[in-house]
Amino acid sequence: MADKGLLLVLSGPSGVGKGTVKSAIVENKVFPFEYSVSMTTRKPRPGEVDGQDYFFVSEERFQEAIKNGELLEYNNYVGHYYGTPLAPVKEMLHEGKDVLLEIDVNGAQKVREKMPDGVFIFLTPPDLHTLHLRLEHRGTESEDVIRGRIKQARNEILEMEDYDYAVVNDTVANAVDHIKAIVDAEHVSVKRVIDDYRKMVKED
Ligand code: 5GP
Repeated sequence: MADKGLLLVLSGPSGVGKGTVKSAIVENKVFPFEYSVSMTTRKPRPGEVDGQDYFFVSEERFQEAIKNGELLEYNNYVGHYYGTPLAPVKEMLHEGKDVLLEIDVNGAQKVREKMPDGVFIFLTPPDLHTLHLRLEHRGTESEDVIRGRIKQARNEILEMEDYDYAVVNDTVANAVDHIKAIVDAEHVSVKRVIDDYRKMVKED
């Protein structure tokens, strides 16, 4: 197991700031890892780069990827498909590299079924009041929509019971620090290093 990289799955309720925390980890190269670039049918936002932020593809291409079994998991989120290409993830893990996925809770559940060895990190808001304030602050949603989002978040927060770690996104810097500590600890967890030691004692 030790010569295999860690599969790090960062997930959590919508609106919690997964994308921002992921970007901070990627931009600051907080620890050595490869980011798994997802495939999506949504259009690029200004500044987003194809092959770096996402592989932006047509609906036909996405359906083909599903049919060919090219995806580890996929989901339809507000009318657009998002999926994790399987081959690069397998290859990078095999090469001993840690791989980071940033996906929604539905996708994380599917990854857990297929790759239970992964490290599943659940990002949470400090409390529902803060989530409410953040959604209000965006100023893009009506009070009704915000209430719906909070209701959805209440249900999604309970999904953390299937995860390994809960990290509070109070500030991005704190969340990133906690994630780094988790990755460091996972690298020395006995279940991941025991095979190395088994080999070591056999050789002597
Ligand atoms: P956005 O369009 O804002 O970049 O992403 C929308 C949502 O899709 C976010 O919650 C993000 O975590 C999720 N997402 C991004 N890539 C994937 C993926 O490959 N699979 C799944 N299931 N969700 C994804």
